[in-house]
Formats: sequence, structure tokens, C-alpha cells
Amino acid sequence: MKSGRHFLQIPGPTNVPERILRAMSQPTIDHRGPAFATLAREAIDGLQRVFQTTSPVVIYPSSGTGAWEAAFVNTLSPGDTVLMVETGHFATLWRDMAVRLGLQVDFIPGDWRHGVDPAVIGQKLVADRGKTAIKAVAIVHNETSTGVTSNIPAARRAMDESGHPALLLVDVVSSLGAIDYRHDEWRVDVAISSSQKGMMLPPGLGFNAISARAIAASKSARLQRVYWDWQPMIRDNAAGFFPTTPAINLLYGLREAVRMLEEEGLANTFARHTRFGEATRRAVAAWGLELLGARPDERSSALTAVVMPEGHDADAFRKIVLERFDMSLGTGLGKLKGKVFRIGHLGDFNDLMLAGTLGGVEMGLAASGVPFRRGGVTAALDYLAGNPL
Ligand code: PLP
Repeated sequence: MKSGRHFLQIPGPTNVPERILRAMSQPTIDHRGPAFATLAREAIDGLQRVFQTTSPVVIYPSSGTGAWEAAFVNTLSPGDTVLMVETGHFATLWRDMAVRLGLQVDFIPGDWRHGVDPAVIGQKLVADRGKTAIKAVAIVHNETSTGVTSNIPAARRAMDESGHPALLLVDVVSSLGAIDYRHDEWRVDVAISSSQKGMMLPPGLGFNAISARAIAASKSARLQRVYWDWQPMIRDNAAGFFPTTPAINLLYGLREAVRMLEEEGLANTFARHTRFGEATRRAVAAWGLELLGARPDERSSALTAVVMPEGHDADAFRKIVLERFDMSLGTGLGKLKGKVFRIGHLGDFNDLMLAGTLGGVEMGLAASGVPFRRGGVTAALDYLAGNPL
């Protein structure tokens, strides 16, 4: 038994605030009764505002992976081509899912240090002269494995300029509630997200925000779908109900999470995360360590991936941090295993939590014998002090 609070500084699941824990601890109620309908409509309406959309948003009792699958099976048919971009581990897992569902994937290769290049998307779409081969472009907004954020409006512009009608599917699993995401303004067709990151909830809810074009596509899409079918969800949700038993207590939490985000103001929430990202990167620079993200304009406000110096294992360092300081940092995923560690700075998080987190990293670096310069914490604190919210 360790005293004090564990520091859960992985980039999801994130720390669940007391208010949300308390909201979820209410008694489970009849999901066919009037009290539930009120709760469900408030949760769904609130979630629409967080996605910045007036289009339908559906909520599954699933993780983000289920919401990925729902996006594909509702909009596409066997053999359809999807244009995807190798931004990192999650883009690669999503590609693997597309292949297993019987889709053709044109996977634009990447080095896991950059976001989506809109020009390449434009070229691929222009090269599809008949404009019928590529049915969808599927990209990850915030690649949680690398700490790199892609420019979705620029990708949308490239699609518009090509005059290609492909649907735009965007994974906002680790950006929703942390990094500005505007579903309607950016004309995204399906956004995929989940509860356990910027939304500050435990894992267990998967989300799709769905444009009118995506709903139209779902009428003729032929991939097999039963549980993930949008139609019964949208039909029943209209009156505040679900076709199957919903995750009632997580919906209490979701309603509370939306209240918290709206009390802060979404713009302020995003600004808070931007500031944490900058402070963390200043700490990394002062330590003399390397950021995984190659381009300053693509670095994530939700997490920071730090490259371990040659000859040192990131997981050995993480183990020391966990054992000595009771802090969980994110592991390197896929081909980044052992090579990077990730600092989550999203969700229910404030200046002193960041100070503690960076203090734990700095002490962990010293305890692991990793070559670094001291002063990262000071650099971050100076930035925070000089740039109050
Ligand atoms: N997409 C991104 C960007 C993620 O970060 C994750 C999980 O961390 C997923 C998809 C998969 O979500 P889940 O693990 O909730 O199924």
C-alpha cells in the first residue's frame, strides 16, 4: 500500500474527477423509464456540443475500437477502397481492422513522427480520375502513440480542392475534450471517439458523430452490421432510449463531464491543454531530450512522446518511475516499444499536477542513469508562471 495519490499520467485512461465518480455512483435506473430518457437526452445533446455538431451522435458501450468498427461497417461495402495514413500505431491498427473487414486499403506510408500530409491526400484523390474508387479517407486527428496532431481542416481543404466525393472519417479518440475539434465546421463525415481520455470518464463508451452524408451512405453500405448499426440507435435515441441496455452509470458520468467542460468553456479547456503541451515540451528541451514529433506545428497538446537516448530502455525507466514515485507513464507502442515514453497531460489536469508529473520524470531520469540535464521542471514552471490562464 502506497500513501498519497497515484499519478496516472498515461494518455488515457486519464484521471477521473471526483464529481464524475460521484455522478456515476448514483443508483442504476430503469433504462426504459422516463428518468433515463431525460438523462440520455442530456448526455447526447451535451456530447453533440462537445463534438461541435448538430448532427446525430451515437454512444456505444464500447471502447474506441468499437466506434472505429461502427464507422466502417455503417458507411462502406466489401471491397471498397479506403485511403489511410500511417501516422503511428493507432492508424496502423485501424488499417488492420479495415483489411480484416474486407476493405481495400491504400495506406500512405509514414515515419511515425509526422502527421497527415494534405498534399498527398489531394494527389491520391486527383489520381482517382473516375472519383469512384476511393470511398473514404480515414485519418487519426491526434496520434496517441506519437504525440503528433494532424491538421484536419487542411486535409478537408485538400479533399475539397480535388473535387472528390470520398467520405472523411476522423479518429478523435485522444483529442475530443482536449484539442479543438469542430465536426460541422470541418465537414467531417464520421468522427470516432471514446470516453477515457479528454472526456475524463472511465473506459467504456465509444462515440460516433455522423454527418448527413454519412447517414445517406449508410443506406446503401453493405458491410455486415448488427450491433453497430446506426439506424436503430438514431431512431431510439430520438426519444432518449437505446435499442439495447445502455451503460447507464457511465451516462451519468458523461452528463457530468459535459457540465464540467461547459463550466470551464470549451475554448478555455483547449487553451489549458495547449499551455500544458508547451510547458512539457520546454521541460523536455531543458532536459536535453528529443521529442518524437518532428514538426513544432504538429505537436500534441494532449500528450508528449519523448525519445529515450540510445542505449537506454524507456520501459526500464517507466518501471523505476512506477516503483519509486507511484506514477504511470505511457509506454512506447508497436515499433516504438522501449524507444519512447509518453507523458499524458490531458483531461482533469492542472498546473500542480503537471509540476508533480514532470518532477517524477526528472527524478526518474536521474534514478535510471539516463543522460540528461537538470532544470526541466524549472523551465516548465517558469513558463506556467509567466503565462497564467
Ligand atoms: N485511436 C486512438 C487515437 C487511440 O489513442 C486509441 C486508444 O488509445 C484507440 C483508437 C483505440 O481505442 P480503445 O483502446 O479505446 O479501443
